[in-house]
Amino acid sequence: MDRRPMVAGNWKMHKTVAEALALINELEAALAGLSQVDVVIAPPFLALVPLAEHLRQSPIGLAAQNMHWETAGAYTGEVSPVMLTDYCRYVIIGHSERRALFGETDDGVNRKAKSALAHGLDPIVCVGETLEQKEAGKTADVVSRQVRAGLADLDVPASAELILAYEPVWAIGTGLAATADDANDVIEVIIRPAVAHLFGEARASRLRVLYGGSIKPDNAAELFGMPGIDGGLVGGASLKAADFVAIARAAA
Ligand code: PEP
Repeated sequence: MDRRPMVAGNWKMHKTVAEALALINELEAALAGLSQVDVVIAPPFLALVPLAEHLRQSPIGLAAQNMHWETAGAYTGEVSPVMLTDYCRYVIIGHSERRALFGETDDGVNRKAKSALAHGLDPIVCVGETLEQKEAGKTADVVSRQVRAGLADLDVPASAELILAYEPVWAIGTGLAATADDANDVIEVIIRPAVAHLFGEARASRLRVLYGGSIKPDNAAELFGMPGIDGGLVGGASLKAADFVAIARAAA
């Protein structure tokens, strides 16, 4: 099954608006003509609006890093899907930092994914085990539970795309990426079958699944060379234009 590669840069809580515009200018110039990969940037909320205006004619896509599932209400500090739809196509949901630091649960991930799809946003749903869970031999249990609970009863319209990212928590920001074989195994043996159980084989084989966790220019080609890995969700290395561009080229 041919799936188009995607590389998404999660800038997390980095970059002022001015810094974000400077980095996007560098990326646009360096990525011009690279048409074989979908490139997506997830800047902080404040930079989403100016970047969306700046990128109107550009193939570079935008993602929010999070959203609330409600459309409006007394939710201080939150951003709703209807506020996002004019500015981005994608939204990252269930990143491990949101799960670990902000109490996000599988149920919350599920509500957000449903709400994103209902409002025309394409969710990039993150799953992955902690080091403790991996060492206890619980990777399969944890990841398949996150997929089944996070995607339960999801209605994915033909016009929308659901994307998954396998991000082992122990690999995020540690410099210790999963081996290409291990990441591919989790995707092909745990994630795709769990998705097939929910949505059928055909949908599971079309689904793009990214790998995330310490992707760098020097390990990207090996990871993206695996048949089950359709690209990457990149944290730290997405903050340096040269590194992110090298990673996007490896995916292309
Ligand atoms: C991430 O936060 O999604 C991530 C993959 O980070 P890093 O690339 O820095 O490990």
